[in-house]
Amino acid sequence: MLYRRLGQNVEVRKLGVTYGKVEAVRDVSFAITPGEFITLLGPSGCGKTTVLKMIAGLIPDHRGMIAFGGERIDHLPPNRRNIGLVFQNYSLFPHMTVSENIGYGLRMRRWPADSQAARIREMLALVRLEGLGARKPDQLSGGQQQRVALARALAFQPDLLLLDEPLSNLDAGLREGVRTDLRGIQRRTGQTTILVTHDQEEAMVMSDRIVLMNAGRIEQIDTPEQLYSMPATEFAARFTGAGNILYGVYLRDGEADRICIDGLEAPMSVSTRASTVGPPGSPAAACIRPEQIVVRARNDVATLEAFWPHALMTTGQVIDLAFCGGTAILHLDVPGLGLLKCARPAMEVEGLRFSDHVAVAILDCHLLPRGE
Ligand code: ATP
Repeated sequence: MLYRRLGQNVEVRKLGVTYGKVEAVRDVSFAITPGEFITLLGPSGCGKTTVLKMIAGLIPDHRGMIAFGGERIDHLPPNRRNIGLVFQNYSLFPHMTVSENIGYGLRMRRWPADSQAARIREMLALVRLEGLGARKPDQLSGGQQQRVALARALAFQPDLLLLDEPLSNLDAGLREGVRTDLRGIQRRTGQTTILVTHDQEEAMVMSDRIVLMNAGRIEQIDTPEQLYSMPATEFAARFTGAGNILYGVYLRDGEADRICIDGLEAPMSVSTRASTVGPPGSPAAACIRPEQIVVRARNDVATLEAFWPHALMTTGQVIDLAFCGGTAILHLDVPGLGLLKCARPAMEVEGLRFSDHVAVAILDCHLLPRGE
């Protein structure tokens, strides 16, 4: 009973809502396949929670339609939408035990008593809280309380699970563990899920697909890999950790795409191009991820050229160098280009020091339309 894949597609089309003069959400459309884990990602105030609330039925007067399995549910009150909700503040009933909290939705739906008991046991095992069913929420850690909230939301087999920043109240150490738990449970149950977060890393590691939002509308919908390697806009590139955005003009050299960066003479090769970039000659931006920049000691240019004959070669000065575990983060001052952020395996840059003059190779970039 626990391990099933729900057979419902979820579709939202042209969702929108206006508060006074503020169009908080406009034209938001996406579809979710059964068992998929989707994340609404974006900066504070971009409308993520508002979309979640519309789906949950907590905003009555909105535009657009919501359907589960092809049937519209947007006219139904929240308690008839068969949606499980988990909020950042857990929202457990303080006077009920863990088991009573988990069984709440089952009692409301009038499950037979023996099925309720069996389901509560199943849920306690799923979230690894066996033996703690008689405790009250205030006798649990934050991570345990969030697992109870998850068990309560999953117990009645919702068509859709909505998670509103469920990890943001947990400290950093705990968050990673609960994140892994949550995704593991979602995979095992095949529960169709929408997560809301402003944390890019959380979205990247947890989601099948990400709906990136900006100022009330959708900027891009893609898998984490695609969003990172092929952002459609400058906003998407920056929000997913662009590291470096340089401006220039898009060029075409036979079959190859290139960009002529302002301040550099030689054009740079482009591996991927957003479909919205205009024709050759259009203003464009190059998104250079930090790991696409390689540095060596100044007298070691030959090694760079031998390894990466197609890279764009230049020189710079190390103005900051920090080691984060096995990765070194360098900030380089590159004449004509300004500050570039570079991330390399720590072992590779062992000999380099602050203020060293270095040879710099830009291996690759992704081409974007130039932002406003
Ligand atoms: P956060 O990550 O900070 O929670 P969010 O992306 O979830 O942000 P929303 O809470 O959806 O953003 O808010 C979107 C916009 O709508 C914001 O400008 C917010 O101020 C506005 N807004 C939300 N609810 C209301 C309301 N009930 N009345 C007026 N404005 C609202």
